[in-house]
Amino acid sequence: MESGNARGIVGSVRKKIIELTTECLVIGGGPAGYGATMAALDGGVSVLLVERHGFLGGMGSAAGLGCFINYRFRGEDLAESVYHNLVARMKREGTCYKGDGEHIDLFDPEALKRTMETNVLQRGGRLLYHCVLNNVTRVGDGWAAEFSAKGSRVVVKARFIVDSTGDADACALAGATMSHGRRSDGKTQPMTMVVHIGGFDPVAWGRAGRDLIDGIYAGAGDCFAAEIRTAREAGEWDIPRENISMVWGMAGDPTRILVNGTRVQGLNAGDPLDFTRAEIEGRRQALQLAAFFRKYIPGFEKAFLLSSGPQIGVRETRRIVGLNTLTEEDVWASRMPEDAVTRCAYPIDLHQPVGVTTDHEPEKADYLYGIPYGCLVPEKLENIVAAGRCISATHEAAGSFRVMPTCMSIGQAAGTAVVLAIEHGCALAELNGACVRERMTGVKRRAVAVG
Ligand SMILES: Cc1cc2nc3c(=O)[nH]c(=O)nc-3n(C[C@H](O)[C@H](O)[C@H](O)COP(=O)(O)OP(=O)(O)OC[C@H]3O[C@@H](n4cnc5c(N)ncnc54)[C@H](O)[C@@H]3O)c2cc1C
Repeated sequence: MESGNARGIVGSVRKKIIELTTECLVIGGGPAGYGATMAALDGGVSVLLVERHGFLGGMGSAAGLGCFINYRFRGEDLAESVYHNLVARMKREGTCYKGDGEHIDLFDPEALKRTMETNVLQRGGRLLYHCVLNNVTRVGDGWAAEFSAKGSRVVVKARFIVDSTGDADACALAGATMSHGRRSDGKTQPMTMVVHIGGFDPVAWGRAGRDLIDGIYAGAGDCFAAEIRTAREAGEWDIPRENISMVWGMAGDPTRILVNGTRVQGLNAGDPLDFTRAEIEGRRQALQLAAFFRKYIPGFEKAFLLSSGPQIGVRETRRIVGLNTLTEEDVWASRMPEDAVTRCAYPIDLHQPVGVTTDHEPEKADYLYGIPYGCLVPEKLENIVAAGRCISATHEAAGSFRVMPTCMSIGQAAGTAVVLAIEHGCALAELNGACVRERMTGVKRRAVAVG
């Protein structure tokens, strides 16, 4: 028999165990996780934020997607304070500008990583990167969450968990009931590889009659359908979509363009084999998309593919089944329940799981609805809440509140709830959403009734 040493193996690969404790464990550093972390820190709670990537921002940076849709209601800004503070800082630092119209803030994804991280650290938060959650167990009146890391197993003991993984990983591991995609067949919105293009000429784009924001930044939405039809007929376009969702110039460098224009359908981001296929297909489409822009769109003649997103963008996976579930009827009826923790007015926007269309409700939809606290709280579990795109909702309702400022505000509500639960010595499920809202806004009765 060959010994280990004879095969060149000189040591055992024994995993180091790292044990940490915190009052509040936030898992996932996207918009929702950032919102939860900042709110809990503001309330004096100790927070450890754990993220599988080496930076914060979620889809805003991990997918390279710095387009934050802060959709207003009749001119009223609905985002909460954590979002406003982030935008204010990034604007001061020249890494964010207001997109076309009132609804969009465009961030440099690289700066987003740095600014979020700085804000968390300056507020006294702790960060742990490159750790993937793989188990959650109840220990006494708290939780033990176990993460896989290179060469280590990390165990974090916490009284409260905010699950902002986007995929509700923590709630699923803790035993919550889950839903996935749409009710009819479980299919989800497709994934999209966001594409960064360099070598763009804003002057040529402007000369062709296209919009330039602030006179320098290219910006367009739901565009280039005719050019895509021509390219498809010429065999140069096989991406399953009929137009490009968005094109916008990078804050600070108008020659760099970000494009939301690829589409990968029928694969499940919760399955590593599917997720791998999606990355490969997304990168293939990224190349095709860059070639399309070079050939068909003015200003892109000398453009080149700068990068595909660090990961493919994931719009939808699973969600918790909570004490309350937000439905499309709630959205359409402008329901504003007493326990609403934040508000949203963004029209339901569904990239179809099959076919080439994107179904937007008309922007004149004119509804304003509240997101009930019960949508954050999983049934039958104590002191763990979901935040962001994985709260309890139908596929259609999630097509509305999934925008990043709203997800950040849901996170802010989750972090505020943890603060209140500690102050009152109660469980998260015992809290009333109206109290959470009151603490977030400092306003006792909300003037949010919709006519
Ligand atoms: C292609 C695309 C285009 C979009 N367009 C827009 C747009 O124009 N404007 C807009 O406002 N919104 C847009 N959205 C929606 C928006 O980006 C998301 O809905 C939003 O980012 C959700 O925020 P979140 O914090 O809930 O989740 P995410 O942003 O998905 O963040 C989840 C975080 O958790 C981490 N994580 C996941 N699992 C684990 C684990 N097991 N352990 C540790 N960490 C984990 C992830 O790495 C990630 O950082 C788009 C989304 C996509 C994919």
